[in-house]
Amino acid sequence: MVLLTPGPTPIHPLVQAALARPMRGHLDPETLATNRRIRGYLEALFGAGEGALLAAMPGSGSLGMEAGLTNLASQGDAVLLLVNGTFGERMVEIAHAYGMHYTVLRAEPGQPIDPQAVQEALSRRQYQLVTLVHGETSTGVINPAAEIAALVREHGAYFMLDAVTTAAMMPLSMVEMGVDYAFTGSQKCLSAPPGLAPFALSRRGRERLGKAHVPGWYSDLTRVAVYWEQEGYFCTSPVLLHFALEEALRLALEEGLEKRYQRARRLYGQVLSLLEELGFSAYAAPEARLHTVLTVRPPQGWSEAEIRKGLYQRGVSVAGGIGPTAGKVLRLGLMGESAREEHYRAFFRALGEVMGKDGLEEAFLERAQPAAV
Ligand SMILES: *Cc1c(COP(=O)(O)O)cnc(C)c1O
Repeated sequence: MVLLTPGPTPIHPLVQAALARPMRGHLDPETLATNRRIRGYLEALFGAGEGALLAAMPGSGSLGMEAGLTNLASQGDAVLLLVNGTFGERMVEIAHAYGMHYTVLRAEPGQPIDPQAVQEALSRRQYQLVTLVHGETSTGVINPAAEIAALVREHGAYFMLDAVTTAAMMPLSMVEMGVDYAFTGSQKCLSAPPGLAPFALSRRGRERLGKAHVPGWYSDLTRVAVYWEQEGYFCTSPVLLHFALEEALRLALEEGLEKRYQRARRLYGQVLSLLEELGFSAYAAPEARLHTVLTVRPPQGWSEAEIRKGLYQRGVSVAGGIGPTAGKVLRLGLMGESAREEHYRAFFRALGEVMGKDGLEEAFLERAQPAAV
């Protein structure tokens, strides 16, 4: 199966091989050495700066989201949630479940969050924490994170960034942007198996730990730090997933984040231009397209479900819409190992069969964009 969903993603053979290594204990010196290397890699991945807490929680990306919210704010703190799709709404659900004191600022699905609207919201009251989804996977929109982070910094609040669809597929610098907490999921742009939520908490963000937080246990980052920094027991971590994550991080950083960004961007353009010729249309606003998730409406006369099923029968797995895009779009992943020309050759071969059109694979290859030097 060619896995072109926006997570999970195909995994590299070296990452697959890491999963087959012999089992070790979570406090085994070899595991702890892997953890130290993972922390070093996460520093580079997030541009987290000195004194940051770097770790990978055992759980999916959503645990990274929940931990950010509950460790950076207490129940009485004012929190501003910026929302333009399903993953922003998930933050609202979490804040609601914990009885947090939150305000929601929404943009239309398909549109980015407007920094001007954020500025106005910040001028109306004092917030302790502001949260943003960098790349909204449900709609394929990228939000202007750097601009918004600058406004939040001026306001004095902590800033949390969901970097699930951007970290490892573009250069990020929490220090330069002014991000206090960023997280991802191992199965997205890193192309490791699902099961870990890598994150970085800035030195400034750490000052909140143990002081202002919503009570919890498993996602209490002071406990996570006991394992990752003091190398003591907190919980039994998924050691084989650590081995796989280390390998995936090493491969990503060896290739280089700027190069990975260009790889996704080029392929996105190449895929979209042929899809547009076939009558598909991009869902996301042209100025805010997230290059790791291509959301397209099907051509007239086709439903997304019949195209998706036809592709699946031919060995290509893509996703349909979720939340605001449910039933309306196809979502194609260009994260990590899915952003490879060979996979999209297979996609267009299968799509040609589904739609009864010849020569799509060739037409796709003709559109290859030269790599920047
Ligand atoms: C996938 C995703 C998540 C949640 O990750 P899970 O691993 O599914 O829990 C959060 N935010 C964004 C933007 C995502 O794409």
